[in-house]
Amino acid sequence: MAILPITVLGAPILRQETVPVAAVTDELRDLADQMLETMHAASGIGLAAPQVGRTERLCVVSVDDRTYTLFNPEIVAREGKLRWEEGCLSIPEVFGWVDRAAWVKVRALDRTGAPIEVEGTDLLGVCLQHEIDHLHGKLFIDHLSFLKRRQALAAWEEEKAKYPDLLRILKPGDTDTPRHAQAADGEL
Ligand SMILES: [Zn+2]
Repeated sequence: MAILPITVLGAPILRQETVPVAAVTDELRDLADQMLETMHAASGIGLAAPQVGRTERLCVVSVDDRTYTLFNPEIVAREGKLRWEEGCLSIPEVFGWVDRAAWVKVRALDRTGAPIEVEGTDLLGVCLQHEIDHLHGKLFIDHLSFLKRRQALAAWEEEKAKYPDLLRILKPGDTDTPRHAQAADGEL
């Protein structure tokens, strides 16, 4: 088990399309476990493979004490609308209100390779949409209006200096500042 470095905005891999997983192997289960450990170390509630420098179509989500490992996740139904203030482990200290579907149904393979469906509203629904966006090279700032996006990128320009290699290195016991938890429901 290991905590992995998190790629931050500017790293090309965050903009790449991921590759569907052909079969859920022990190696991929290990990767999922490391992603979960990394996500918890960063006090996050979701993490997608490109955020740890990988191209597999895989994300992990942990909301309301329920944890999901999702291979090849796909939104198969969505309904309604909501606005949610989002953050991202790959864009620390930057937040923005995003329009999302109020409810989504996701089809994926679980850690045994079996097909599963996950339905989510509120934070779980938002997290699923945010992580699946990551698997297609999309970030929450892409959903912001021109002006809000420009503000977010300006805020990031200052933060970015902390990550000279576009990597965020976490140590066990590292947690985000309480401000994060107050500003948003968790980084994704
Ligand atoms: Zn994110």
